[in-house]
Amino acid sequence: MLIPSQRCYKCGHVEKANRKKDIFHCQSCGYKTNADYNAGCNIAVSTSLAV
Ligand SMILES: [Zn+2]
Repeated sequence: MLIPSQRCYKCGHVEKANRKKDIFHCQSCGYKTNADYNAGCNIAVSTSLAV
């Protein structure tokens, strides 16, 4: 599994610069949200795909 906190929930782009402390800001698509929320969405998606 990729690092959830650095992965964009919207487009799947993974970049270290995506996450800045509590804020997630995708460098690819511009999606901006709470970092913990984005990480949670990524975990939920990867879990559902694995089943
Ligand atoms: Zn993105």
